[in-house]
Amino acid sequence: ITAPAALFGTRANSKGLEFGDRKAVAAFIGERDGARLSGLEARPAKGFATAGRQDIRSPADGRVVGAVSPLTTDGAAALVAEAARHVRAAEAVPAATRAARLRRAAELMDERQGALLALLADEAGKTVEDALAELREAVDFCRFYADEAERLMGAPVPLPGPTGEENRLLYRSRGVALAISPWNFPLAIFIGQVAAAYAAGNVVLAKPAEQTPLIAALAVDLLHEAGVPKEHLFLAPGDGGVGAALVSHPATALVAFTGSTDTAFAINRALAARDAPIAPLIAETGGINAMIVDATALPEQVADDVVRSAFRSAGQRCSALRLLLVQEDVAERIVSMVEGAARELAIGAPRDLATDIGPVIDAEQAAMLRAHVDEMRKTQRVRFEAELSRGLPEEGHWIAPAIVELDRPQSLAREVFGPILHVATWKAGELAEVCDAVEATGYGLTLGIHSRIDSTIRAVSERLSVGNVYVNRNMIGAIVGSQPFGGSGLSGTGPKAGGPNYLARFCREQVVSTNT
Ligand code: GLU
Repeated sequence: ITAPAALFGTRANSKGLEFGDRKAVAAFIGERDGARLSGLEARPAKGFATAGRQDIRSPADGRVVGAVSPLTTDGAAALVAEAARHVRAAEAVPAATRAARLRRAAELMDERQGALLALLADEAGKTVEDALAELREAVDFCRFYADEAERLMGAPVPLPGPTGEENRLLYRSRGVALAISPWNFPLAIFIGQVAAAYAAGNVVLAKPAEQTPLIAALAVDLLHEAGVPKEHLFLAPGDGGVGAALVSHPATALVAFTGSTDTAFAINRALAARDAPIAPLIAETGGINAMIVDATALPEQVADDVVRSAFRSAGQRCSALRLLLVQEDVAERIVSMVEGAARELAIGAPRDLATDIGPVIDAEQAAMLRAHVDEMRKTQRVRFEAELSRGLPEEGHWIAPAIVELDRPQSLAREVFGPILHVATWKAGELAEVCDAVEATGYGLTLGIHSRIDSTIRAVSERLSVGNVYVNRNMIGAIVGSQPFGGSGLSGTGPKAGGPNYLARFCREQVVSTNT
């Protein structure tokens, strides 16, 4: 098993930089690659129709970071047809070769970390801390799925049978695999889906989020440089219409999607409407993630974990804490500590080392978050809203972290994807009702529990159908291989990314029974 970079860092790269030295990285992205980034363009391979050229702007200051030439819907259909022509050749590549290419891509990401970190900051508004964590996760995904490809696909799996009969299970590729990835992890989740799909021997169509095509284009370039043939991995930039065209094409054999629950439903319906073989959907979507805190919890630790889980990454993680459910006896003490810590968070430019929280991704998200806080002001109590410094660029999408006190847990009825924490209290003896309220959301992604009572921890985690339970710690930043990530219900289909069952879903199984 390869040790995750997220836990242990990677070796120093060729330029002598330690992976994880924040200062060195900040200097690097500021002085070198930052200057080199202008003029980037994301475009599909030559020969596929595109629709004009659009600027990609930084969410922090509106500066042009690069441009995208999105596919037309006809271009998207042509791309699937082209991908389908290479399916046999892609499957013929030995698993060990595919794995070696992914490991080489991990090395290249390590070597080019300056450019990748700069783009994560400029295109996605990631702070240096978040960008570093994301880069490590991307490296981990490449290595993990490389190992998994060799484990599952390196040799047939012998199965029992009577004397004179040999049974073997083979994991084979499915064909054209479509990966549709989100803007909140434009490198890690993008690479994770693509690496898994490729490791399994598929021809991969990589459709990045509309907001973050540049980092995706750079990642695809690195994979090609690492030896992944261009005709086995295609970049497919575009909006939802392009995504729909890619999904609807009869040759698309599998879709891996991370994003909103609504879009997952739309993809599911589009797949069902095709006059084509039934294609599986792997969906990882949102959550109304709760943290349940009882009176035995350690207040300082809770406050620290709440601030990290709810506000870091500007709350733009699907794992992020949305709903803090705290026992009444300790509620005021804990919430005032959270408020005090939230007041200290530095909101500002992503590349600035002092920044804790960068911008949200775009004007639409910012408007949605502001509208939500306004709505909460009418019906609930907005207890705290951080002050934004006047020096922030006007073109940036800044949202102040906020704490909203709810009259009851049910008053938060949908996922709010930003730095807004909702709090409700419960009385001793009401734990079962609290769990019922969480279960009734229909989501099941992450759950935090803070308690010193083993039976409470056990009862709560058994009662709730969530994918990832975090006990007496924060609830973000799942580590590849250590904390396989993903939920159920409205939060997704499984299997868990970075877990032992993920790669198999990208494969088709074949059993060969031979009379010897
Ligand atoms: N895996 C990430 C985490 O554990 C969240 C992924 C997402 O936001 O889609 O924080």
